Amino acid sequence: MLLVLFAASCAATPGPTGGGAPPWAMAIHGGAGVISKDLPAEVREGYFASLTAARDLGARMLGEGASALDVVEAVVRELEDDPRFNAGRGAVYTAEATHELDASIMDGRTLACGAVTGARTVRHPISLARRVMERSRHVFFSGDGAEAFADTQADLERVENTFFDTDHRREALERVLAERQEVRERGTVGCVALDQAGHLAAATSTGGMTAKEFGRIGDSPVVGAGCYANDATCAVSCTGSGEEFIRHCVAYAISARMEHGGQSLAEAAHAVVHETLAPDDGGIIAVSHTGEIAMVFNSKGMFRAAADGNGRRELAIWE
Ligand code: ASP
Repeated sequence: MLLVLFAASCAATPGPTGGGAPPWAMAIHGGAGVISKDLPAEVREGYFASLTAARDLGARMLGEGASALDVVEAVVRELEDDPRFNAGRGAVYTAEATHELDASIMDGRTLACGAVTGARTVRHPISLARRVMERSRHVFFSGDGAEAFADTQADLERVENTFFDTDHRREALERVLAERQEVRERGTVGCVALDQAGHLAAATSTGGMTAKEFGRIGDSPVVGAGCYANDATCAVSCTGSGEEFIRHCVAYAISARMEHGGQSLAEAAHAVVHETLAPDDGGIIAVSHTGEIAMVFNSKGMFRAAADGNGRRELAIWE
């Protein structure tokens, strides 16, 4: 669970404007969990500024006709560079005080997908996942294999593992180790998009869970659990207790309810988050093939934002 202690209420700007299906739609998240409302105003505003910048980047690209795939990668790269979020630069520490990064991406046009787990020296794990999807015969590389595949990609930015060090994450690790805390700092970033050509894509990236055990893999890089996209249904990115999201194949379950059960995105997302998962497990963002947006969580809060081509703009942390 994301243990960020906050103190203010969420800011949300009004939703939909014009009628009819929007020409494009998108949503982003920056993690779900126990987000206290006792947050200094400047910290809260910092989160809002980061979410707004990432959302507006995606909205601008979609408005200009970019593909959903390019948008979800670009937006997640932006969030990976932001130390506020547990992905890329702001990744949490493992129990050995290193960083092991997980990411996945999926193209709803073809069900092509790519994922990496345990990456250590790639600045933007989401771009490594995209290269796995587009430039390898496989869909998922782990640890040394992910690093070896990265070595073959000359245009991929590499960094020392210490690049991901931050004081606030180290303090969280020390707290967990000293107090043997069961509730550990988590978080993830994600983006889902519908482009003007009617294609969907999803991307998810994370540092996982503070003090995670050697080799532990959460849902974020598991296609069908933490990420899924299918042009026939929806694109989904998840955040929360990875083990639960894997058990319930959360991202795919939402798509399957639409495809096989005839449910709307709102019905499917509500059922999976509030009936299948348990309270405080986390949340999801999703966009459907008709431009419907869902941002549903059963935790105290979820950093999130959304936009569509009809003028909808949203930004929120709590209900
Ligand atoms: N789902 C991530 C994991 O289990 C963490 C999170 O989203 O909070 O690795």
